[in-house]
Amino acid sequence: MSDGTADDTTMRVDPQRAQVLVENISSVLQKIESVANGRKVRLIAVSKLKPANDILALHRSPHKIVHFGENYAQELTEKASLLPRSIKWHMIGALQTNKCKPLAEQVPNLWCVSSVDSVKKANALEKGRAALAEKQDLPEKLRVQAQINTSGEEEKSGVEPKDALALCKHIRDDCPHLQLAGLMTIGAIARSKASTPETENEDFVALRETRDQVAKELGINEADLELGMGMSSDFEAAIRQGSDEVRVGTTIFGERPAKKDAEVKAAVAGEK
Ligand SMILES: *Cc1c(COP(=O)(O)O)cnc(C)c1O
Repeated sequence: MSDGTADDTTMRVDPQRAQVLVENISSVLQKIESVANGRKVRLIAVSKLKPANDILALHRSPHKIVHFGENYAQELTEKASLLPRSIKWHMIGALQTNKCKPLAEQVPNLWCVSSVDSVKKANALEKGRAALAEKQDLPEKLRVQAQINTSGEEEKSGVEPKDALALCKHIRDDCPHLQLAGLMTIGAIARSKASTPETENEDFVALRETRDQVAKELGINEADLELGMGMSSDFEAAIRQGSDEVRVGTTIFGERPAKKDAEVKAAVAGEK
């Protein structure tokens, strides 16, 4: 690789594994296209707890996948240091405030943070990006999505829909190194299971309504505030309800191991 990160000699891509991954993602891309009705919908391949050479296999495949999503700041940072700079990383997992600044400062090709749910975290990302901008030219702002807890479940991260406007306004007005790219939700599993092509998923309805309201209050185009919703179990439903970006892991990479530190380390190093 000309950018000097991923080294062809140290990272081996197993051809059989690569073939499985390419078949899986081809089928996801086809499904996206068949429900998107000509709209552009971004696929994020969610690679958390999966080895770096899985990512490389998809990045080098004929599909040239560039958008990869990770849940843990440390795992993202490690993988980014091993893999080509041409990858656009998405931080989609629950954020700890103290991890925000280092993440934004250490990963120049961090493309989007989808899990911003407080002014404090937005400010910490802003600080990290500002520090990086002092060291190198950054052609683009760091995109961020405000995570909204549309289901009201205690254990889910995200701000309540009523607090979305204040957070979005802060990002837009007070974080010059960040770009308010959209709103994101995970949604309740029960609602995802209950929805059929004929019914609407309430979480997706709620995210869309929140987005429309925020766009109106901020005086921006609805189309300029993306909807990030839909995962393996419900990405087609999410697209039918207007999603601009889906996050798909299991359907592409297979089931994930339970998160234990040792496993994560082995997975990241590609030892499995
Ligand atoms: C893990 C994860 C996904 C992907 O989930 P799958 O069901 O494996 O597709 C999407 N979004 C978030 C926020 C996640 O943490």
